Amino acid sequence: MRIPLIAGNWKMNCTLAEARELAAAAVAAAKGFTDRQVLLAPPFTALTEVAKVLDGSGILLAGQTVSWAEQGAFTGEIAPFMLKDAGATAVIIGHSERRQDGVIGEPDNRVNPRLRAALQAGLMPILCVGESLATREKGWDETEGWLKKQMDEGFAQLSLDEARRLVVAYEPVWAIGTGKTATKEQAQEVHAYLRALLAAMYDKSLASGVRIVYGGSVKPSNIDELMSQPDIDGALVGGAALDRKQFTRIIQFQAAN
Ligand code: PEP
Repeated sequence: MRIPLIAGNWKMNCTLAEARELAAAAVAAAKGFTDRQVLLAPPFTALTEVAKVLDGSGILLAGQTVSWAEQGAFTGEIAPFMLKDAGATAVIIGHSERRQDGVIGEPDNRVNPRLRAALQAGLMPILCVGESLATREKGWDETEGWLKKQMDEGFAQLSLDEARRLVVAYEPVWAIGTGKTATKEQAQEVHAYLRALLAAMYDKSLASGVRIVYGGSVKPSNIDELMSQPDIDGALVGGAALDRKQFTRIIQFQAAN
């Protein structure tokens, strides 16, 4: 049984006052829903304020990235213990905006060390994978190959017990912040492929337990159909998570099955 996860990634947005308001709206939206989990990933500066608003609500708090190092001379990075100290229990790792040249341009080989540091500290990592438009346009074999490479790199050296603690986010780069959403069929096809990969990398029981969430222009108008797909276990939401009404409707999705 995989509990659906609706995660809001606020990226580099929000004053403290705005963060408090958005968090309070999410608390109100999630109230009474015991069949789903909600998570908020505010910028680092707002973590402690948001933690106060979320206290007792059951909503999870996450960082948007985390350092591979325990602590020390790493200007601009944030250590796993700092995220925990601020109230976070989860962290997004390998978001395409961090990986992409011309945006942040972080090398792919940073992803796995960050992920292992998060696991070591007891944080729940959300590993983002996804292909670019150029890769998708080259066809399914190229898309599969790209995703396999990112999954192999991400899960490198992880034991079965560690791998069980991850959430995977499939975020086609061409659908992030562009208004273009993968169709429910396109997303389901990739989610099923990722689950099959996990079964081959570990075993079927692990593959059927790991949550695979979709991200890429998720909106009130497409959340229900996405959540009705058998291998889509939630959503990682960017733009619409900054709008109280839209995120409320997304949290309150109604799947057809
Ligand atoms: C994201 O931030 O991971 C994301 C999918 O953004 P958006 O929903 O705006 O496409």
